[in-house]
Amino acid sequence: MKVISLNCNHCGAPLDVPAKARFATCGFCQAKLAIEHVGNSYSTTVLDELKETTDRIARDVAEIKSSSEIKELDSRWQQERLSHMVTGKHGRQSLPTKTGAVAGGVMVAVFGLFWTIMAAGITGAGSRMGAPGVFSIFPLFGIVFIVFGVFMSFQVYSRAESYEQANQKYLDERRKLARENVHRD
Ligand SMILES: [Zn+2]
Repeated sequence: MKVISLNCNHCGAPLDVPAKARFATCGFCQAKLAIEHVGNSYSTTVLDELKETTDRIARDVAEIKSSSEIKELDSRWQQERLSHMVTGKHGRQSLPTKTGAVAGGVMVAVFGLFWTIMAAGITGAGSRMGAPGVFSIFPLFGIVFIVFGVFMSFQVYSRAESYEQANQKYLDERRKLARENVHRD
């Protein structure tokens, strides 16, 4: 059996091992060693260090994977957010809010209410002065506005709610990924 001489990488003690051996234990410091054949020369590496390097690489890979998962989640959310947009005044796109939904609906409904009162007053006065009865439909437009305001309010409100839920889900997922990242450190 061919024997080679090398040194322990941990304590420096001389070591004789079989030429084909891949691992050895140092007789002096008991370090577990991996034997590396580089060309015609041999060297030893303490196995714990090897394990540490492997662990670190695994950790780095996990970290890169996790942060790319976060990036992916972020860009997916950027896209998804667009589908939650509502078209507001002047055709401006914005994300729906519950307060905005209520405020917008109230504004339209109040306008409708004023219209109804005003129109009722005018057509009332008009009919007393002999205006054709067809004008009595004007106050009804105000009612349409009120109904539309309430309807719009509910619509935007429910969209705001589903946006909030989606946003919460996104944040939870992101937090979970970030936490996994921390645990791997
Ligand atoms: Zn040793």
